[in-house]
Amino acid sequence: MRTIVLGAGIAGTLTAYHLLREGHEVTVVDRQPGAGMETSFANGGFMASSQAEPWAAPGVPLKILKWLGHEDAPLLLRPSVVPQMWRWGLRFLANCTEARALASGERSFKLAHYSIAVLKEVREDTQIAYDEVIKGCIRVYGSAEAIDAAAQFYAKLAPLGLNYRVLDAAGCVAIEPALGPSAAKFAGGLFFPDEESGDCHKFTQAIASVCQQGGVAFRYGTNVMALEASGGAISGIVTDKGRLAADRYVLALGSYSPLLVSPLGIRLPIIPVKGYSITVPAASWPGALTVPIADDERKFGLVRPSPDDAGRSAHPRRVALSQPFPQHRPRSHGLDLRLRRRQGRRCGRRRQDAGHRADRVRARPLFEVSRPKHPRAPQGGAT
Ligand SMILES: Cc1cc2nc3c(=O)[nH]c(=O)nc-3n(C[C@H](O)[C@H](O)[C@H](O)COP(=O)(O)OP(=O)(O)OC[C@H]3O[C@@H](n4cnc5c(N)ncnc54)[C@H](O)[C@@H]3O)c2cc1C
Repeated sequence: MRTIVLGAGIAGTLTAYHLLREGHEVTVVDRQPGAGMETSFANGGFMASSQAEPWAAPGVPLKILKWLGHEDAPLLLRPSVVPQMWRWGLRFLANCTEARALASGERSFKLAHYSIAVLKEVREDTQIAYDEVIKGCIRVYGSAEAIDAAAQFYAKLAPLGLNYRVLDAAGCVAIEPALGPSAAKFAGGLFFPDEESGDCHKFTQAIASVCQQGGVAFRYGTNVMALEASGGAISGIVTDKGRLAADRYVLALGSYSPLLVSPLGIRLPIIPVKGYSITVPAASWPGALTVPIADDERKFGLVRPSPDDAGRSAHPRRVALSQPFPQHRPRSHGLDLRLRRRQGRRCGRRRQDAGHRADRVRARPLFEVSRPKHPRAPQGGAT
């Protein structure tokens, strides 16, 4: 069967891989010059089923209202975008009940748990390397109350297969000594031993290469303009390089997917998230972490894609901050690492806005975890 996959992010590329194995004749179409160049380019790289805790949860709407106008809020909703997202917003609010948050958490957990199992299979089948770190993941919290609330939520997922341990700050430091200097700043955390991290971009490119060797055709630099439909089915796609047709189509354009199907009367409940990540080389941070760390309260993660400290990866540490609502201005100052400019040396890269813009930062991270007191202009000059 001829199948066209729209989008060569991690979702489209991995779908192409599985379709290839099932005997499809696959073509992947993407506007970028290679695979994994947008949202999948420099994300946090967490493979974490504990990330299943939904944003739509009791108390969250109130928090978001309180954060309105605070540039350094973990989640920032700008009033100007509210009119554009009222439909999605109402559904978000409807899902903020205890029962729905749990149901949503369970669904996300099952999907994430399955995804990690599939990742292991793909890793074994392909033997690809993507700076994977298979050491578990720590979620840190600022207060005993926050730890209790998180532990209560995760206890409900334990019967579905989630493994975790509740730790005090010393317990976290025992697993990740790099947390030591910051131990006074958090109360403790939860350790999830079955979780992993890795470089999503490397992974996507490696899978694309496996696909190419297996006969998948990649049409890069091709912009999908519209979907053609007749008789209740897709009959072709219109691109800036001409029309393409197949027997089946897979829509994997990430946050752009709703734009393509809305002319067909299909409304996908997807709202783009804006986030930032900064990647720095090993040499600038001796003794840095080896276990991925997430801070749910301040919405950031700290990941070390490379498993050793030999500096073999050009970008072995990454910080990622996600924000659930469309933003108009970059907020990378919200990252909880203070970055210091270093003259004349390029040592990091930053990716923001769900991967739409990239730039380089001249920065050195200080292992000092604290909230910025004043909003500052972002480094790197992206707007
Ligand atoms: C800062 C940040 C940190 C994150 N951290 C994590 C994390 O730690 N763990 C985790 O699991 N997830 C994380 N995520 C989310 C994760 O990155 C995304 O869910 C994932 O990359 C989405 O992959 P995708 O293939 O669906 O979309 P994308 O990677 O965006 O792929 C879509 C592709 O479609 C192409 N495309 C779009 N429109 C068109 C068009 N009209 N024509 C042609 N091509 C088109 C794009 O070029 C792109 O290659 C993070 C996201 C951000 C922004």
